[in-house]
Amino acid sequence: MTTQRVMAIVGAGHVGGRAAQTLRETGWRGGIALIGTERHLPYERPSLSKGLLTGERAAAQCGLREPEAWREDDIEHVVATVQSFDPAARTLHLGDGRTIEYEALLLATGGHVRRLSIPGASEPGVQCLRTLDDAAAIGERLTPRSHIVVVGGGFIGLEVTASARALGCEVTVVEGGPRLMGRAVPAAIAASAQDLHARNGVTIRLNTAPRSFERRDDGTLAVRLEAGEVLNADSVIVGIGIEPADELARVAGLEVERGIVVDEALQTSARGVYAAGDVAVFPSRFGAHRIRQETWHNAETQARVAARNMLGARDAYRELPWFWSDQYDHQLQVAGEPMLGSRSIVRTLDSGAQIHFDQDGEGRLVGASGFGLASALAREMRLARMLVERGAPIGGAQLANPEVKLKSLL
Ligand code: NAD
Repeated sequence: MTTQRVMAIVGAGHVGGRAAQTLRETGWRGGIALIGTERHLPYERPSLSKGLLTGERAAAQCGLREPEAWREDDIEHVVATVQSFDPAARTLHLGDGRTIEYEALLLATGGHVRRLSIPGASEPGVQCLRTLDDAAAIGERLTPRSHIVVVGGGFIGLEVTASARALGCEVTVVEGGPRLMGRAVPAAIAASAQDLHARNGVTIRLNTAPRSFERRDDGTLAVRLEAGEVLNADSVIVGIGIEPADELARVAGLEVERGIVVDEALQTSARGVYAAGDVAVFPSRFGAHRIRQETWHNAETQARVAARNMLGARDAYRELPWFWSDQYDHQLQVAGEPMLGSRSIVRTLDSGAQIHFDQDGEGRLVGASGFGLASALAREMRLARMLVERGAPIGGAQLANPEVKLKSLL
């Protein structure tokens, strides 16, 4: 079929880029408009809080593909803001007045960083990390012996902390909750991560948040905490989460529920309109509930399924949730949905690394979370993921016993 309508993708990040590539690979010969507000071609984010800050990686190495690949595939990278779209007319309206007629549409809009709304929050030197440009600006300030206050003990906060320590900065983490990584990591694993940061010389303040930032005469920032303490900072990095960027979908009348609701084919409530990545709220493989995932793996795998479905397939998205976080020489991995578990079984490996398996009321494995030296964890977690993937009931004693090979339980 030849048509003048294009495949339109809003959001030119990891999801948008991978979906555009998949559309071509799957045989779409018409136009592909990949629309985003950043001037950069699609890039991957994992290095932004790690190698890009420590200098082990250059911005050019973060690209999702080589720059010429986008040209060779004739994918049009449109740098513009999308104002609105009309699912009935299948049109998309850009801020510069242009209208794009689309065949199918993918919303890959990701999330907006949450910002603090306290006095001094917009002082120079108080920075968030979401984009390549953010990482470049933060990297410039991570100089040896500088005092860094990290607000938020989630993934951004802790990965930036480890990078800043590697660069010789003094770091204090201020976390509003009672423990680190409360959103997505089981408590026992978070406690091990907290120990690791303390052993690496990081000061951690839990259960408190900044109340204000004040610029001192010497140019440093006074960070006043709710608990009363005042910290001294050369710069502040704020990593307090993201809000799903679902506003276009909401205005267009699509079903939205802190993110854009999609079915198992990643189609939204409007026919021909798909959503994937951080912004998509999709059916869990473990039950009737819906989940949203802010992970590399989710971006990578949903992009491919959504693109194929835009071309008429009806593939179901059934991937097991999975993410990792590298901090110092340690790695943390979480597979499945540990929060669904009612019973946790701990497996301690020779290296001291631990894997916590979570079973639901019926003995079904619903999650595995591992923490330890990166080199020791990788193989065991690969097998643990496969076990959760199978979802078969397995005796707790076997899982806990490191003498019993996980492979033998598959
Ligand atoms: P997050 O949700 O992981 O953590 C935010 C943390 O900030 C939480 O612990 C929360 O309790 C805390 N917080 C909220 N308000 C606060 C306040 N006023 N004062 C102090 N603490 C406060 O979000 P993030 O770390 O900002 O990461 C942003 C996004 O990037 C997420 O989508 C995350 O998954 C993603 N990311 C993922 C990885 C990875 O998978 N390895 C690494 C970096 C970032």
